[in-house]
Amino acid sequence: MQDCFLRKVNYMRISITDLCNLRCQYCMPKDGIYKKQHQEMLSYEEIIKVVKYAAKIGIDKIRITGGEPLIKKDIVSFIDKIANIDGIKDIALTTNGVLLKDMAKDLQKAGLKRVNISIDSLKPDRYRSITRGGDVNHVLNGIQEVLQLNMRPIKLNVVVIGKLNEDEIEDFANLTINDEIDVRFIELMPVGEASGWAKDRFISNEEIKRRIGELLPVKNDTLGPARYYKLLGAKGRVGFINPISDHFCGSCNRIRLTSDGKLKPCLHSNQEIDILKALRENDNEIDEILQKAILSKPEKHYLYTSEHEIGHRNMSQIGG
Ligand code: SAM
Ligand code: SF4
Repeated sequence: MQDCFLRKVNYMRISITDLCNLRCQYCMPKDGIYKKQHQEMLSYEEIIKVVKYAAKIGIDKIRITGGEPLIKKDIVSFIDKIANIDGIKDIALTTNGVLLKDMAKDLQKAGLKRVNISIDSLKPDRYRSITRGGDVNHVLNGIQEVLQLNMRPIKLNVVVIGKLNEDEIEDFANLTINDEIDVRFIELMPVGEASGWAKDRFISNEEIKRRIGELLPVKNDTLGPARYYKLLGAKGRVGFINPISDHFCGSCNRIRLTSDGKLKPCLHSNQEIDILKALRENDNEIDEILQKAILSKPEKHYLYTSEHEIGHRNMSQIGG
């Protein structure tokens, strides 16, 4: 269905957990987050019910995210159920990749088409420091597994942080040369953990592009927020997602569902619409609540403007 600004909204990002096996500096507090009670969180059955209603009003693309979705029990059968909902044409996953190697085959069998893997450094020590404890080799093994299963193109999400990993920009871009790997640079957002320091460590994608050097523009076939380019002769693409320097609100096609049952019309607004109560008490309201969330989408976000509301959730609770 269309929102008030005539944008077609057909995409729902679902955070199935706010917990994670990493503690990325810009996303999670060092000691993790307060674990909510089981009954405060949506069950798989409830999420599946939301998706069935959403599919009826035109949502056909689902992304499962978190926290870290692969730490959730029974995720494979959950993906299978989502993939089999009438009207859902595409299901993808965003993961830190740590557990991917052993799970990728089953996830693919369950109907998962593609994965986005977040990786901000290729250097073991630095990766461990950014993620506060992660082993980059687990992620690299996961990437190899996904390539072997031919889930192409795979997308690697890289957040560049000033004075931390900016010297790896070229190494990441070069990963696109020999295989169908899309490396997407995502601008650091002043959200949650990063809200106090993101501005000082921000490097715009324009600057990253300049540092990579010659890039040929290619068409984005997915209508997503990334702008794509290629290094000369490369098989994969270099993408730029610029929520800060050049926001893509005009083509925003998504709503978000948090693991505690709130619909978020916009990633950068604190507005949330509760759907948990309706799921438990009155199914008749679900459709109306979904439509309300779509119709509440603001025209654009207000990051770094006078109208900017400081987000009260970390990205791990929203799903990115
Ligand atoms: N755990 C999974 C992962 O890391 O891919 C999925 C959830 S994570 C919140 C989704 C994405 O949000 C990741 O690519 C992560 O780098 C990104 N992210 C988290 N906090 C961010 C921030 N402050 N600015 C930019 N991207 C951020
Ligand atoms: Fe976990 Fe992803 Fe956040 Fe890193 S970015 S702490 S992997 S949820």
